Amino acid sequence: MTTTQLPSYEIYAIRYATRDGMRRNHFIGGDPHDAPMPMDYYVWLIRGEGRLFVVDTGFGAEVAKKRGRTLLRTPAEGLALLDVDVAKVEEVIITHLHYDHVGTFDSFPVAQFHLQDDEMAYATGRHMRHRQFNHGYEVDEVVGMVRMVYKDRVRFHKGDTELASGISLHRIGGHTQGLQCVRVHTQRGWVVLASDTSHFYEHFEKKRVFTTVFNVGEVIDGYDTLHQLADSPSHIVPGHDPLVMQRYPAAAGLEGIAVRLDVAPLA
Ligand SMILES: [Zn+2]
Repeated sequence: MTTTQLPSYEIYAIRYATRDGMRRNHFIGGDPHDAPMPMDYYVWLIRGEGRLFVVDTGFGAEVAKKRGRTLLRTPAEGLALLDVDVAKVEEVIITHLHYDHVGTFDSFPVAQFHLQDDEMAYATGRHMRHRQFNHGYEVDEVVGMVRMVYKDRVRFHKGDTELASGISLHRIGGHTQGLQCVRVHTQRGWVVLASDTSHFYEHFEKKRVFTTVFNVGEVIDGYDTLHQLADSPSHIVPGHDPLVMQRYPAAAGLEGIAVRLDVAPLA
């Protein structure tokens, strides 16, 4: 199938939380020009062709308080602004099981959760004995996702998978062992939702590595994969960069809340 025959989907980034931070918080090796570098938190929506996928489920008020993050709106509230009722969403892609990506999964009562084998193995395996690797997880959420397995609500994937024509998942690893990105065909070509395979633009642009990491080699190799999957560097959407809100046009009536990623960036 040529790309012109592929379906094109709309993609939205919905900003649901934010935090202050310094450059040294975000790069292994720190930074000689340490300066403020705030971080935003997003969930994403893919829709079109009668299909609808939510990518990640963020976190809620309780975890925001516990971890000192500023919750702007719950992911469900953000999605509702785009006319999505989380009670009816059937397909949710979980890029990885960190607290800021899986936190409100239980507000999706009928969803199937798409997850990499490696992520469940990692989040329930030997490395979680160590604070170095477990600090990004909330154990109750990991246990909750295990319960979803027992209810046959987890769709496991191993490596690369096509979920629908024009939508595929790609295991990258690195930041966590089973982290996956999402490739989506749009009116402007192939867009890649990098999630935490690249927290900020600077990570993939300068081949630098975020401070929370399992396998540095896979992080850096992952940047090559992002470039291969995306039509151009401006088709790669990092997982936590506030610049995403500046570079893309706002969804209708949702300035500062949601942007369209399936249309060309403004700059
Ligand atoms: Zn994250």
